[in-house]
Amino acid sequence: MVAEKSLTPMLKQYLAIKETHKDKILFFRMGDFYEMFFKDAEIAAKILGIALTSRHKESNIPMCGIPYHALSNYTQKLLDHGYKIAICEQVEDPRTAKTIVKRDVVKILTPAVNSEIDNLYTDENYFLFVYYNETLAIVDFASGEFFYETNVDSQSLINEIEKHQPKELLLTRHDFDRLKKSIPLQFYKLAINFTDEKYFLDNIETDTWISNIDKSKPLQIVKIVLNYILENNGFIPQHLKHPEKIYISKYLVLDDNALSHLEILKNASGKKDGSLYSALNSCITPMGGRLLKKWLSYPLLDTDKLKERYDFIEELTESHNIRKEIKVLLSELGDLERLNGKIALKNILPQELVKLKDYLETIPLMKQNLSKTENTLSKVICRELNDLKEVIELIKKYILPEPSNNLANGDYINQGISKELDELKELRLNARKWLLQYETSLKEDYGISNLKIKFNKIFGYFIEVSKRNSEKIPDRFIRKQTLVNAERYVTEELKEFEEKIISADENIEKLQKQFYFGLLEELTEFCTDIKNISELYATVDILTGFARKAIERTYVKPVINNENVFHVINGRHPVLEEIMDNEFIPNSLSMDSSANVFIITGPNMAGKSTYMRQNALLAIMAQVGSFVPAESFNYPVFDRIFTRIGAKDKLLEGESTFMVEMKETSKILGNLTEKSFIILDEIGRGTSTYDGMSIAWAVLEFLASNKKKFFVLFATHYHELTALENDFPNIVNYSVNVKETEDKLLFLRQIKKGPSDRSYGIEVASLAKIPQPVINRAKEILHKLESRGVPDIRNNVKEKSIFEVVKESQTDEIIKELAALSIDETTPIEALNFLYKIKEKIKKLP
Ligand code: ADP
Ligand code: MG
Repeated sequence: MVAEKSLTPMLKQYLAIKETHKDKILFFRMGDFYEMFFKDAEIAAKILGIALTSRHKESNIPMCGIPYHALSNYTQKLLDHGYKIAICEQVEDPRTAKTIVKRDVVKILTPAVNSEIDNLYTDENYFLFVYYNETLAIVDFASGEFFYETNVDSQSLINEIEKHQPKELLLTRHDFDRLKKSIPLQFYKLAINFTDEKYFLDNIETDTWISNIDKSKPLQIVKIVLNYILENNGFIPQHLKHPEKIYISKYLVLDDNALSHLEILKNASGKKDGSLYSALNSCITPMGGRLLKKWLSYPLLDTDKLKERYDFIEELTESHNIRKEIKVLLSELGDLERLNGKIALKNILPQELVKLKDYLETIPLMKQNLSKTENTLSKVICRELNDLKEVIELIKKYILPEPSNNLANGDYINQGISKELDELKELRLNARKWLLQYETSLKEDYGISNLKIKFNKIFGYFIEVSKRNSEKIPDRFIRKQTLVNAERYVTEELKEFEEKIISADENIEKLQKQFYFGLLEELTEFCTDIKNISELYATVDILTGFARKAIERTYVKPVINNENVFHVINGRHPVLEEIMDNEFIPNSLSMDSSANVFIITGPNMAGKSTYMRQNALLAIMAQVGSFVPAESFNYPVFDRIFTRIGAKDKLLEGESTFMVEMKETSKILGNLTEKSFIILDEIGRGTSTYDGMSIAWAVLEFLASNKKKFFVLFATHYHELTALENDFPNIVNYSVNVKETEDKLLFLRQIKKGPSDRSYGIEVASLAKIPQPVINRAKEILHKLESRGVPDIRNNVKEKSIFEVVKESQTDEIIKELAALSIDETTPIEALNFLYKIKEKIKKLP
């Protein structure tokens, strides 16, 4: 850093301001630019793709800048990268400043506390997470939603992080240290830690806010949230809802593995395309799309609520007209939820208020349409949809029907609000007329046809005549400026006029703003109601979308049973079906307490994984209230869906594939409930054959012998395991059909009862275009192995124990090692060491 003395006054000012905003990138206003310096400049230049220069006056201080009018293009990019921003303006007029112009931070933006709502993606939420004393608070600043859950252990916290992908995470230093190993990598930079006392302080704003909420709420964490908002936004916006408990236990638990393995919100490469969300989302409004994401993260357990949703959809599928009318109404709607946020943040524009009014005016029509249906949910929605006539009236009263968005010079406050304002506007209007008349009369009086009255910022109003005509000008005109071809003058009348009009303009601006912000203040009282309307509309949007989808793709209404049966007839994969259309081959499933564990075998690429995922996806769809792609769907409402699919690598985090697999499996085995649905796809694949098979075997035995009759789909390439069907009455073998024709393999994609006969690995290798000589050699080897006869492992295992199988494999290894030792090339010392090593290994045998 540069020595203090050599700094210019401007840089000293910069550093003083930066001192209180060390954790933010400081946008420092200098004339028409915002400049960034030092480390800030390096970060910003890289992310924003702008040139990094240096300030020549100072010695090589890195610097970069952006034009002031393009601010919002740049800020959001930095926020998206997890940085906070402080915007520092010149707070006095540079022309009147005696020394260096005064500057101050006027706005702070953070990734989650961001009042620039227009910069946010419509289908994304910008969640703030605060975790303190095992309580988790989740806030969506733009919509004002505020949830919390108590007794959130580390694992549940991580699940919630995976679900909501928060933009900021506030943890204490203690929790941060404890959790940093297990928080997914991409969230590292979001983990802001707070040990600071400032978040626990009492102050008037937080106290007032807290005094209005129910005392059963976790006040400590509420206070942290409020203080954080206050610190960055400057005030607590009115649309921030009272905190509501989530009750994670009221929802179907989809752990982070299930969410990502099943590609619920995003596909495997992190994009929305190809996810269940994108297949299911036919919402018309932005708040509908966002609410659907929440529904998919928290599918319901409440049978009555689910049935209400099904009934609603069913009625809508039966009436083309109602569906159409509702669709038209919804397509007239914009982002009601975010407009509401803008009211609370006081940065809504007049034209947006008119839009808001238009949106609210659709409510009676929406109610009319809904009341044509009979179902319970429609009735509830109709009852809760408040017309908000007061809001409509207020906006109509105060705002012009076609207002200007220019709060400084535009015209946007209605007539009849204030006599003074009307008179001033009248004056302004008349002034224009007067100016025209004055110009005409001067032209006539002095016979100068090209006389003009003009305006510029330096002189204000003036009279301009050409040089040739200047002799006709009387003495009472005051000469202001001489140009090459023209002379400019002012008159007493013109000066008087100018004063009047300037003061009129100033007063109009002052009065209009006064009424405008007064109106916004009144409207903030309705923020909660508007939020509710937005949510009800979002619900209608999602469910009519489900109804349209149901018709388009012939989905069926799910049936809920209490008998613990899961029957799907000709189910289809909702995402693949979108791509493959009729080419997708439907498959059925029939599970109950007496047949609750299915072992699924079949060659690679046969469709095992697809089949298992498909059934989990159908259950999730049903539990958000949607119809499902099947001919019939009868299910018990699940409370947990577990998945262990594929070899998801977390090598970057220092764990081997196999370790990850075992951890995930152990998590599943430790959390099983009566109403769990479990998908295990090729577990044991990450390690050597014997280890892998032993583990897969033991897991299967554990699941099948459990008293709880949860449902398990277990795909495996260990054919030996299919023999377990004989030992457990509730295990059933299934396989995916293939047909062998001459030298080709035909995938039929059909699930059938019974184990698959063999793995067809070589045929699949051939499909994958492995060179022919390799294929031929593989066939030879396979043939030899088969003719030697593979021992019946099952019998071995039954006589011995799994431990003995493991022991055998390890003994094999020792024998191999011994055989490989070449005694001729070994020194006595080496031989001794070798002997010692072998002995150690024998000691470790199970
Ligand atoms: P496995 O797990 O048995 O190796 P997958 O489930 O990954 O096989 O399926 C491989 C591919 O087969 C899928 O990507 C999909 O394109 C296709 N597929 C699977 N099931 C079906 C089906 N029922 N209908 C049509 N194509 C399917
Ligand atoms: Mg597979």
